[in-house]
Amino acid sequence: MRLSKSLIPALKETPSDAQIASHRLMLRAGMIRQMASGIYAWLPSGYRVLNKIMQIVREEQDQAGAQEMLMPTIQSADLWRESGRYDAYGKEMLRITDRHARDLLYGPTNEEMITSLVRDSIKSYRDLPQTPYHIQWKFRDEVRPRFGVLRGREFLMKDAYSFDVDYAGALAAYKKMMLAYMRTFQRMGITAIPMRADTGQIGGDLSHEFHVLASTGESGVFYDAAFETGDALAETDVELFYQKMTSIYAATDEKHDTAQWAKIPSERQREGRGIEIGQIFYLGQKYSQAMNFAITGADGQRFFPEMGCYGIGVSRLVGAIIEARHDEAGIIWPDAVAPYRAAILNLRQGDAATDGICENLHTQLGADGLYDDREERAGVKFAEADLMGHPWQIIVGPRGAVNGLVELKRRATGERWELAVQDALTKVLG
Ligand code: ATP
Ligand code: MG
Repeated sequence: MRLSKSLIPALKETPSDAQIASHRLMLRAGMIRQMASGIYAWLPSGYRVLNKIMQIVREEQDQAGAQEMLMPTIQSADLWRESGRYDAYGKEMLRITDRHARDLLYGPTNEEMITSLVRDSIKSYRDLPQTPYHIQWKFRDEVRPRFGVLRGREFLMKDAYSFDVDYAGALAAYKKMMLAYMRTFQRMGITAIPMRADTGQIGGDLSHEFHVLASTGESGVFYDAAFETGDALAETDVELFYQKMTSIYAATDEKHDTAQWAKIPSERQREGRGIEIGQIFYLGQKYSQAMNFAITGADGQRFFPEMGCYGIGVSRLVGAIIEARHDEAGIIWPDAVAPYRAAILNLRQGDAATDGICENLHTQLGADGLYDDREERAGVKFAEADLMGHPWQIIVGPRGAVNGLVELKRRATGERWELAVQDALTKVLG
């Protein structure tokens, strides 16, 4: 992509209404624009990040045996009357009336819809287990939308739902999801802490929240330093993994209320703040019972399937990753989710040698290269590349160019190398 032709409207000034780093940086880097309170448009570079995050989430869900589908954003109120949540949900639900005076709503979550779909699609216990998921926009009319995409009103969520014949099956599904979640976040270059949580209005009695550590997080997190090493993620046995996550290591939101905290050797006790990026719930029969979803078991008896639900805040993750990975100059993207892998900075537009090298690099990098081909001062190009946070910068100046050399900079460490064009590319693509 040529920066001169792109819709990446970087801002020089710091937007005054943005209180925290990720919000400021996403606006300044031209990733998003607010269209109404808590409702954002994703501009091309922001959308590329969102897509990369979605793709990692998708691959790990598929790997865990879940199946992707797509449910609509607009739901019928009648579905929610079946579960009793239509009245219970309160003001966060955006209620809509159509021209025939039918009650609709913009879905804040999908337990009711998926329960009715699975209820109507399967007839026998032999059809279980099932774990459908989708990645779809949700709407919650938050009292105070703030911090940009971290707490929007419209936001993108991955939500999966498991259906099993018994408790053992549901628990196995829960454990498998926890492993998938930890792998998902690790692939995105962030450390996530799984924390035992309240089940709130969703129901059920087993739940974990996943928090990414960031000083601006809304929740206090007290955790075992062992989570930071990622060692447990090398574990391929789900049982052992779950044991490590929940009883060998420990994490809690209030160290005083738990014996777990005391179990952590003091040299491994850590305190920080976290942003909730996902939550998983064992639901039991709450929805299958309320919505009369019963099937015949192996013993000929009717039973209500055991359910679980599993959410990841896909759009919130974009902001959360930035909260965890930035400095005074801007964003520091982890390679796996960066909008562009490398920026190509032409320090003398119109010079035959620099133009030639840049065009060549641009072609070879394809969609993952952002070519700053603008008639701008070098200082402006450097500052903007740091702001946008590309993992690599390939700096092409006239002195090096005549000898076929470029300067390569790693954003995260500030390291620099002077290299032949092809060697720089190899390092970037490696
Ligand atoms: P919170 O406590 O932050 O309001 P929640 O617990 O109500 O979130 P869940 O129902 O657990 O949210 O939804 C699953 C995930 O969706 C959350 O872990 C979070 O990452 C994301 N999410 C929830 N609300 C929002 C929002 N208003 N904006 C962006 N992401 C959100
Ligand atoms: Mg939650």
